[in-house]
This record gives sequence, structure tokens and C-alpha cells, in this order.
Amino acid sequence: MNQSFENRIDLVVGDITQQNVHAVVTAANSQLIGGGGVDGAVHRAAGPELVQASKALAPCPPGDAKITTAFELPMDYVIHAVGPIFKDLDSDSPTLASAYRSSLQIAREHRIASVAFPCISTGVYHFPKQEACEIAIMTVVHWLKENDLPERVVFCCFESSDAELYRKRLEEIGVRLS
Ligand code: ADP
Repeated sequence: MNQSFENRIDLVVGDITQQNVHAVVTAANSQLIGGGGVDGAVHRAAGPELVQASKALAPCPPGDAKITTAFELPMDYVIHAVGPIFKDLDSDSPTLASAYRSSLQIAREHRIASVAFPCISTGVYHFPKQEACEIAIMTVVHWLKENDLPERVVFCCFESSDAELYRKRLEEIGVRLS
């Protein structure tokens, strides 16, 4: 397949729990017990039932993802993606790519039309931001070229400096940002 990707990607700066999408991806830990950062925000907004549902699916190894309903969040689903705790680029880059790919695969399996991703592993897991941005974008673009679901992917950056990295790279590869 060679699907278009240029008009299926959005970039926003803000809180992922506020996005208008069918599924939100959270950067989870392997135990799926909730955490700080984006996972804390997602669990707070979804309410206490989310941790019960996610814990029941643990453990989730780095590079993999699990799905639950979104409880009090306005989305249909939460996809719990586990990125690598950064040690070195050679071994951790494929794991980060796999966390994105696993999330996209789950979205396709559940026929989810739109998904928002945070910058997985770039917070307390300390993956270098520029390299993480490249991996996130290229993994998503490759997926969109090969698959018609999800129809739309939103990169949701919490920090405007992250959004600038994404904007520059997305424009370089021909993505039309609104
Ligand atoms: P990890 O443990 O995978 O590094 P973190 O949650 O610590 O995950 O950080 C991942 C990214 O999530 C960071 O770029 C951080 O700025 C971002 N982040 C934190 N809170 C939110 C939020 N409410 N919405 C979107 N992104 C967020």
C-alpha cells in the first residue's frame, strides 16, 4: 500500500487529556500502575478505575502497549505504551519505535480513527528529545503509508520546545500542518 500521510498528521502543544481524538496514548511504566508526567495527567483525568483496568494487563514490557477504555476521559480508549528507560541509542531506539508501532497496531485492531501521542520516554525516562522526535515521526509516517487506520495521528507536545522540533521535521518531510 502507499497511502498518503501528509494530511493525516497534526501537531499541538498542550495537555493530551484535552485533545479531540478517539484514543489517547500515555507513556506508561511496565507495571501499568500510573505514574507522573503524562501518565499522571491521564490517570487523574480518567479517574481511579483506570489503574484497576491497566494493572490487570501488566506486565507490559518496554516496546509494547496495552489498551483499556478511557473511563472519565472524553476519549473512547487509553493506549498504555511503555517506552525504554534511556541508556543508549543503539539498543533503545528500536524499543522506542516499537512502542509507537505497537500503539498504532492496537489502534488499527480496534478500528480507532484518531490517536494522540505524547513524546514517549522523553520525560523521566530521559530519551534524547531530538532523536525521540525523529523516531516518533518516522515510525508514524511509515505506518500511515502502509495502513489506512488510524486515519489521523496527533503529536501532542507538552513543551513548546518539543513542538518546534516536531514542526521543523514534519515540514521538512512535506506534512501540511494546520
Ligand atoms: P516517560 O516516563 O516516558 O519519560 P513522562 O511522562 O515523564 O514519560 O514524559 C513524557 C512526555 O510527556 C514529556 O515530553 C512531557 O513533557 C510530556 N507530558 C507531561 N505531561 C503531559 C500532558 N499532560 N500532556 C502531554 N504531554 C505531557
